[in-house]
Amino acid sequence: MAWDFSTEPEFQEQLDWVSEFCRTEVEPLELVFPGAPYSRDPKAKALADPLKQQVRDRGLWALFLDKDLGGPGFGQLKLALLNEILGRYRSAPVVFGTQAPDTGNMEILAAYGTPEQKDKWLDPLMRQDMFSAYSMTEPQGGSDPTMFRTRAVRDGDEWVINGEKWFTSGGSHAVIIVMCVNGMFVVPRDTPGVEIMSYPQVHNHIRYTDVRVPAGNLLGPEDGARVLAQRRLGGGRIHHAMRTVAQVRLAFDMMCERALSRESHGRVIAEHQMVQEAIADSYAELNMLRLLVLWTAWTIDNSSTQAARTQIAACKYTCARVLREVSYRALHVLGSLGTTNLTPLQAMFAGSPTMAIADGVDEVHKVTVARNVLKGYSPQEGLWPTEYIPARREAARKKYAGLIAADPDLAAWADMAERSITRRA
Ligand SMILES: Cc1cc2nc3c(=O)[nH]c(=O)nc-3n(C[C@H](O)[C@H](O)[C@H](O)COP(=O)(O)OP(=O)(O)OC[C@H]3O[C@@H](n4cnc5c(N)ncnc54)[C@H](O)[C@@H]3O)c2cc1C
Repeated sequence: MAWDFSTEPEFQEQLDWVSEFCRTEVEPLELVFPGAPYSRDPKAKALADPLKQQVRDRGLWALFLDKDLGGPGFGQLKLALLNEILGRYRSAPVVFGTQAPDTGNMEILAAYGTPEQKDKWLDPLMRQDMFSAYSMTEPQGGSDPTMFRTRAVRDGDEWVINGEKWFTSGGSHAVIIVMCVNGMFVVPRDTPGVEIMSYPQVHNHIRYTDVRVPAGNLLGPEDGARVLAQRRLGGGRIHHAMRTVAQVRLAFDMMCERALSRESHGRVIAEHQMVQEAIADSYAELNMLRLLVLWTAWTIDNSSTQAARTQIAACKYTCARVLREVSYRALHVLGSLGTTNLTPLQAMFAGSPTMAIADGVDEVHKVTVARNVLKGYSPQEGLWPTEYIPARREAARKKYAGLIAADPDLAAWADMAERSITRRA
C-alpha cells in the first residue's frame, strides 16, 4: 500500500529530540539573548556554537541540500517534518543551518556554482562563516521582472554592475547574490560602489554604482538569471511554507489551551459553540495546509522542484491565508491578552500580510496555478458542458438500447429515470 502518512521510527526519534532541544535550549537562548545565533560577537558565539555543534553531532545540520547537490540527502519530506518544529522558534532555523535566505542562495550555488565559487562561498555559507542575501526586487517593480533594470556590462576580465535594489534582506552584513537582467552575480558587500541606504533596516535598499566584480563572479550562464531565480525562489518558498505550518500549529495550540482555561458566562469558553467553530475551522485549515505542504515536498523528492511548481505556488498563497485566519481566531479567543505583545499571536497575525507579499505577491502565484491547471483542460465540444446530463443519458441509453428494447420493465425504469430529471429541470 503506497499511501502512508507515518514517519519512520528512527526519524521520529530525531524529531522528538529536536522538539525537546528547541524547547529546552533554543527558546531560552532566544528569549534571553535574541539574535545570538546570527552574531559574530565572541560572547554570542560561545552561547550559540555549542548548540549548533549538537545539531551537527545528531546529523541534522543543513538538511535542505539533497545528495546530488552535496547535502545529506534527507529529502524535502523529512525537512518539512523538521521545519514543522523549527518554525515555532525564531532562531531555530539558524541553529540548524536551514535559515532563509541562505538556503535558497546555497541551493543555486550548489546547482550552478563552479568549483571555485563553491570553495569561496558555498562552503563558508554551509559552515555559517558568512551569511548571504538575495538582491532581486527593485524600487520601481517587484512582481514584474520585465521592469528590472540592474545590468552588468563586461569590461575585460570584469563585470561592471549598475542599478538599484530594494528589500535585499540582510544585505548589510552578507555576500550578496545580485540578479541583473543579463545574469546572476555574486557581489561581496564591501565591494566599492555598493551603497547601503539607512532604511529600511534589515530589508536593505542598495545602490550599485560601477560595481566591479571579477568575471568568475557570474553565477550560471550569461542571461540565465531568470532560470536561476526560479530555482532559487521555488526552494525558498516551500521552506517558508514548511515553517508556516509550525506557526499555524502554534497559534492553534494556544487557542485550544486558552479555550479550556478561560471561563465566561458560567462555563469554560471551549463550551461556547462559536469558540468550537473557531477551533473546528482552524483544525481543518491547519491540516489542509500541512498536507498540501507535505504532498509538495513528496513531489519534489519523487520528481523535481520544477515538477512541483504549481503545488509550490499553491502553498505560497495558502500559507498566508491560513496563517492570517488561524492567528486571528487564536488572538480573538485570547481576548485582550491576544492583542498585546505578551504572546506570539499579535506578531504572527501582523506578519501574515508580509507573507502574502514576500517571495512574490499572492496574485502572481494564483495566476501561475490557474494557468498551469488549465493546461490539463480543453474547452467543451459544442454547445453544452461535457457533464450535461441529458446528452450523457442519451449516450448511456444507446449502450443499453438492446436491453431496453427487449425488456419492458427495464424500459419503464429507464423512462422513469429520464422523466425524473426532466421534471426536476
Ligand atoms: C519581509 C520581506 C522580505 C523580502 N526580502 C526580499 C529579498 O531578500 N530579496 C528581494 O529581492 N526581495 C525581497 N522582498 C521583496 C519581495 O520579493 C517583493 O515585495 C515582491 O516581489 C512584490 O513586489 P513589490 O513589493 O514591488 O509589489 P508590487 O509588484 O508593486 O505589487 C503590489 C501589489 O500590486 C498587485 N499586483 C502586482 N502584480 C499583480 C498581478 N500580476 N496580478 C494582480 N495583482 C498584482 C498586488 O495587489 C500586489 O500586492 C521582500 C519583501 C518583504 C515584504
